[in-house]
Amino acid sequence: MNIHEHQAKAVLKEFGAPVADGVAIFSADEAAAAADKLPGPLWVVKSQIHAGGRGKGKFKEAEAGEKGGVRLAFSKEDVISNAAQMLGNTLVTHQTGPAGKQVNRLYIEDGADIKTELYLSLLVDRASGQPAFVASTEGGMDIEEVAESTPEKILTITIDPVAGVTDAVAESLCDALGLEGTAREDGIALSRILYKAFTEKDMDMLEVNPLIVMENERLRVLDAKMSFDGNALFRHPDIMELRDKTEEDEKEIEASEWDLAYIALEGTIGCMVNGAGLAMATMDIIKLYGEEPANFCDVGGGANAEKVAAAFKIIMKDPAVKGILVNIFGGIMKCDVIAEGVLQAVKETNLAVPLVVRLEGTNVEKGKEIIANSGLNVIPANDLDDAAQKIVAAVKGA
Ligand code: ADP
Ligand code: MG
Repeated sequence: MNIHEHQAKAVLKEFGAPVADGVAIFSADEAAAAADKLPGPLWVVKSQIHAGGRGKGKFKEAEAGEKGGVRLAFSKEDVISNAAQMLGNTLVTHQTGPAGKQVNRLYIEDGADIKTELYLSLLVDRASGQPAFVASTEGGMDIEEVAESTPEKILTITIDPVAGVTDAVAESLCDALGLEGTAREDGIALSRILYKAFTEKDMDMLEVNPLIVMENERLRVLDAKMSFDGNALFRHPDIMELRDKTEEDEKEIEASEWDLAYIALEGTIGCMVNGAGLAMATMDIIKLYGEEPANFCDVGGGANAEKVAAAFKIIMKDPAVKGILVNIFGGIMKCDVIAEGVLQAVKETNLAVPLVVRLEGTNVEKGKEIIANSGLNVIPANDLDDAAQKIVAAVKGA
């Protein structure tokens, strides 16, 4: 689960990280009062969406003006007019995709005197199987470019989870960030604060870009992106409260209510599968035969007919879906139960696109029989290759 920048900063503040003062607002009427709470002479008006690259983003609507999703304001009037321009409009960044995201809230923040912009993040490093800091002296809005053209400027420092952030880790991190003097003292303290927040709140990722050295040599967290391990959220009701469903795909929310894993993608073929591995294989083979998956819905190991029907309806809600491939291995879940669920859903949704069903495993013969005798327009497939070819052909023919 992701949260907004202003929320992430509030979390970091609890742990003692240096963040600026700021006020989140949801309507332009609140802009004046928010600006009044901050000292000036520089305010920053920041779009709050679950995507990065806001500073370099562009609004779709002309009324929002030419400037990006993070704007400097040199007077209270500036804060108010920019807030009015930005709220309710659609910001497109390299992370939102071409559709962009509607800006429903802004963070009005105290402006900082920036001397240098650094990059710092914490993540779980799969290569070492340990948490790690990723650091660079080249922080700010061009970090993607740095990663692409000068990857040697991005350093990884792994952390032994038993020992935590030792003096040696903190010192190497400060070396990697090129910190000296007061900034280095701040860096040592910050490394421990961030690690504590990361582990105690079960984060997947914590990214501070930029971390800045200010003109007074103190460090400040100027941007914060945070995502949490969904499997550990039950331990953090305070974090769960921060969920913003308007940032999530409506179908993904509905799927999570049924305990289904639904992922929206860009193609034309809806996929109903069980297990993440089978989902990957199904998507690969669809691509191999020249089409793209529109989504996949993982019904998991123990689904019943209702759950299968729910999955089906969620897949059908995506207007980009031109065909559906059901690819299920019946282990604990029996193929006849899946077949019943599929038929129930086909009837209830008045399915208008081609459907290919490939079943394998427990009670497969019974499952195939149910489908064959249904009288409904369902294309049976014998194996994964056959299934992918059939659905691609059906979608291309349509
Ligand atoms: P994004 O990463 O989505 O583009 P950031 O929060 O990193 O958004 O802001 C983009 C840039 O705007 C920063 O790199 C920094 O130069 C500037 N900026 C952001 N917040 C402030 C602030 N409080 N004071 C001064 N400049 C800021
Ligand atoms: Mg940033």
